[in-house]
Amino acid sequence: MTDTDVVIIGAGLAGLGAAAALRDSGKRAVVLEASGRVGGRAWTAYPAALGGVWFDMGAVWFHDAENNPLVPIARAAGDTLLQSDEIRTERTFVGDRTTTKAELAAYASAWPRYEAAAEAVIAAEGDVSLAEVTRRLSDDPWAATVEAWEGPVICAADAENFSALDWRRNVLGGINLVPEGGIGAFVQRRLTQGLDIRLNTPVTRVRWGGPGGQVTVDSARGSITAGACIVTVSTGVLASGALVFDPVLPVRVTEAVHDLPMGLAIKVALRADGPDRLGLPPHCSVDRIIERAGDPLMPFQCWPFGRDYVQGWIGGSAAWDLARAGDAAAVDFALAYLRRAFGARVDRLFAGGASLVTHWDADPWVRGAYCYATPGSALARDALADPVSDGHLMFAGEACHVGFAGTLAGAWISGQAAARTALAVVGR
Ligand SMILES: Cc1cc2nc3c(=O)[nH]c(=O)nc-3n(C[C@H](O)[C@H](O)[C@H](O)COP(=O)(O)OP(=O)(O)OC[C@H]3O[C@@H](n4cnc5c(N)ncnc54)[C@H](O)[C@@H]3O)c2cc1C
Repeated sequence: MTDTDVVIIGAGLAGLGAAAALRDSGKRAVVLEASGRVGGRAWTAYPAALGGVWFDMGAVWFHDAENNPLVPIARAAGDTLLQSDEIRTERTFVGDRTTTKAELAAYASAWPRYEAAAEAVIAAEGDVSLAEVTRRLSDDPWAATVEAWEGPVICAADAENFSALDWRRNVLGGINLVPEGGIGAFVQRRLTQGLDIRLNTPVTRVRWGGPGGQVTVDSARGSITAGACIVTVSTGVLASGALVFDPVLPVRVTEAVHDLPMGLAIKVALRADGPDRLGLPPHCSVDRIIERAGDPLMPFQCWPFGRDYVQGWIGGSAAWDLARAGDAAAVDFALAYLRRAFGARVDRLFAGGASLVTHWDADPWVRGAYCYATPGSALARDALADPVSDGHLMFAGEACHVGFAGTLAGAWISGQAAARTALAVVGR
């Protein structure tokens, strides 16, 4: 491999964002990617179990579309952005019945109550767990449901282990858009032009602090030396030790990795066998009250964009448990969950058995869905993003952004920020 200005490890959104910024500044950058595809956790597949339609195994939405830097790229390219929020209908269940109007109103107002309680606890006591916020709302019948959404479902973390401050710093507003054809396909189509990406090239060692700050990266396909290196692998990969740093990393970096463990989110898709649609309109979300804090919540997107399957989503330790138990257990769990709302017709509807269970836990190059900060560690993201070796070695990715943490946009922006630091270094 020939030497270059900047070497980037990983061709996910952070790596692609960094490489695009360097390309636009006329610097040479090489992206080394362990797997056989670009995109990382943005991956559109066409599963036979779902009839070959496009299906995003990881990221689905451009969150906070008004402020998301990927949205103008899609718009400029003429891509169709599906208005997922606008066409969505919702059903919320209490036991086997749907909510009354009064219950729904109480649910809607529970979110601002929860946010206000979090602000108050953090202001008085500093960073606590999200579960601690729920405990302060013990007389609010919907607090455990809000916790289940904001902890395991959205952030892939159990509320007991999740920093309330990290949550507050990264709550996203605005609308969610879906690029027609899938996010992974969008990334491949629009974010790779003119980039030097080497697939199937796992990096094993990063030797930093060489002459003039140079970094040499060893991979299965040889070594490459650069003026700066941007590492974009997940904190799960960093914690695994699969990537050796020589010399060892500063303590503040290893501590940050420790304080930002990977959460897990699993999608379970079940394809209908027959015309029944459970009395639900297309693109309908099915949600339910969580009566006891910590009980698992599996919300469903039913018949997304008019398709013939439903998709359940579960996160946190319940997801790790199901991942260990296997696909059949995950499908059984989803069926049991649906049965509580719709009864035995669920078994007839999904009797064909066509299903899909995602497995980000088993991807050795990711090792989870995305990371979260543990209570008291909300500043770990800032610590990880802080350049090492005077900017010759940097970390970027979803773990390193505050505001858009755990998202495509956060990864992209943090990659571009790392590229700006690298530019200052290699320009010298
Ligand atoms: C189920 C799920 C749903 C999600 N939903 C959304 C959503 O709707 N909207 C949203 O914005 N975000 C969502 N996300 C989060 C989003 O996908 C991630 O935040 C983002 O893709 C992370 O990008 P990254 O560049 O930080 O990391 P990655 O995408 O993990 O990229 C890192 C790359 O490094 C490679 N790599 C690892 N080890 C090595 C090595 N040793 N050598 C070389 N390469 C290596 C990996 O193969 C990978 O390609 C979701 C994620 C999951 C898992």
